Amino acid sequence: MTNSVKVSSLTPAAQLGSPMLCLYGQGVARGYAIGRVVVLGATALEVSHYRISTAQIPSEKNRLTSALNTTQQEMNDMAENLPDDAPRELAALLSVHSMLLSDPLLADQALALIQDKHYNAEWALTTQGQILGEQFAAIEDEYLRERGSDVRQVIERVLQVLSGSKQVLELNHDIDVEDQLIVVAHDISPADMIRLRGARFAGFATDLGGATSHTAIVARSLGVPAVVALGHIRALVSDGDWVVVDGANGAVLVNPSRQALDQYRRLQQLYLDERAELSLLKDVAAETLDGIQISLEANIELPDEAELALANGASGIGLFRTEFLFMGRNDLPTEEEQYQAYLNVVTTMQHRPVTIRTLDIGADKTLDGEATVATNPALGLRAIRYCLAHPQLFATQLRAILRASAHGTVRILIPMVAHMHEVLATKAAIASAKRELDTRGQAYDDKILVGAMVEVPATAIAIEPFAEALDFLSIGTNDLIQYTLAIDRADNEVAALYDPLHPAVLRLIANTINAGERVGKPVAVCGEMAGDFHLTRLLLGLGLTHFSMQAQQLLDVKREIRRAHSNALRLKVANSLNRAIEIDPATLYH
Ligand code: PEP
Ligand code: MG
Repeated sequence: MTNSVKVSSLTPAAQLGSPMLCLYGQGVARGYAIGRVVVLGATALEVSHYRISTAQIPSEKNRLTSALNTTQQEMNDMAENLPDDAPRELAALLSVHSMLLSDPLLADQALALIQDKHYNAEWALTTQGQILGEQFAAIEDEYLRERGSDVRQVIERVLQVLSGSKQVLELNHDIDVEDQLIVVAHDISPADMIRLRGARFAGFATDLGGATSHTAIVARSLGVPAVVALGHIRALVSDGDWVVVDGANGAVLVNPSRQALDQYRRLQQLYLDERAELSLLKDVAAETLDGIQISLEANIELPDEAELALANGASGIGLFRTEFLFMGRNDLPTEEEQYQAYLNVVTTMQHRPVTIRTLDIGADKTLDGEATVATNPALGLRAIRYCLAHPQLFATQLRAILRASAHGTVRILIPMVAHMHEVLATKAAIASAKRELDTRGQAYDDKILVGAMVEVPATAIAIEPFAEALDFLSIGTNDLIQYTLAIDRADNEVAALYDPLHPAVLRLIANTINAGERVGKPVAVCGEMAGDFHLTRLLLGLGLTHFSMQAQQLLDVKREIRRAHSNALRLKVANSLNRAIEIDPATLYH
């Protein structure tokens, strides 16, 4: 990235005659970035394919073996020297990659192609990679199927070593250091991700990925716009091309026209002004015009996101989704490993409350190597059902959470509760975990609060005993909507019917909030509805006083709260709820 560019930063490629192209994918981090492309990594398509002579076979096999070893050594070094702020799942992913490198299915078969078919090393490796890729693609289980991307990432890394390039980011880009750089990749591997965290990039655009892909995680933690699932952007751009990444609309413009560029510069400025203005709200109270105090907490999936929560003024962690500590690995996290992860968050939050949800595995989140066999996984052995069916796994997690509770304010949150006996069984498991810690002489908060997620309609309808027995409730609207309307939350085909405003959904939320009010127990919403500032007035109107959301959404929601009159909203919303009519949130502004 040292050579300076001959094109001025005000000269988009459109002026040089290239047509503008607009690609749509999934926006996973908001904001706008305008800059020049840095293509990350080699692709299988670019490697040279040639046949070698019989005499060259031994040296070609050596070349491949040594590239595999170098890559493996690189992964091991990286795993040992992970930066403190690296997501914990990275170590596990690096070890998966390291294992793939020594897997005979990859190495031996590729060497056999050199031996038997006289393929050059790159050709042999990519051919075997394709075979494995097809096998992964045919796997029914979604999580295992996605492991195919690990094979691809590993192969790309070996190809880079074979081609002699040192580090992906040290390629000789003809780009001015002053330009904003946008990383374009087919996918971003954990190894590349570690390097990217230390570099300055203005945006990300990838062919693959989803809301919880590595790209999305890095982009969110760096606070830069990102669009994933673009299909073929990697093949359509070259180093130095001008692009606009529109994280708000999930769009990427390649070679933007002068007009589009001007428009996006304005949008970018507006967005930056808005963020700067919003940041002033970080330390002001989340209080409505009529003086109702609202609690605004953050949802996190990885321990290092707690910093971002604090930076956005979160008063605590309302939902720590612990399943991400368990996924993408072949073994279960030990009690010590979990304890360290929970302690990390508790310490970062400096005595603010940290709500740790017990493992919500099942449905679309499965453990490695555990193929989903349930006919309908969303209705199967998920979350608390899974934990109660695996008492040792559950006890390990409960002990780790309890040990972390000795160092701050920790709350336990039970996911997907539908029966009171699940609450009682969980309380018994917590009591037994406490006894075990007593025997070991390890400290914990004996008064730790225990709450449940309200995400099954049955629980929201017959809520009273839950409100009585638990210390707090947290409404998981993502699942509550799915189960109330019989709409799979992950199925695009029925996405238009996934309606948070359906009167039945709103009645269930209201019923839960009212039950909490009657017995004096706090009720939060921690599903995506809480972070959508267009719905803030509606939720205030339903009587909600505790919100938990992604850190970046906190200040937008706080601004809405400070502009709203809670009691007036409650009257308006109650009126519509009684008539079971759909509420248009826009009508709540006047
Ligand atoms: C929910 O269901 O609303 C929720 C917060 O939990 P998750 O999205 O992890 O299922
Ligand atoms: Mg849920």
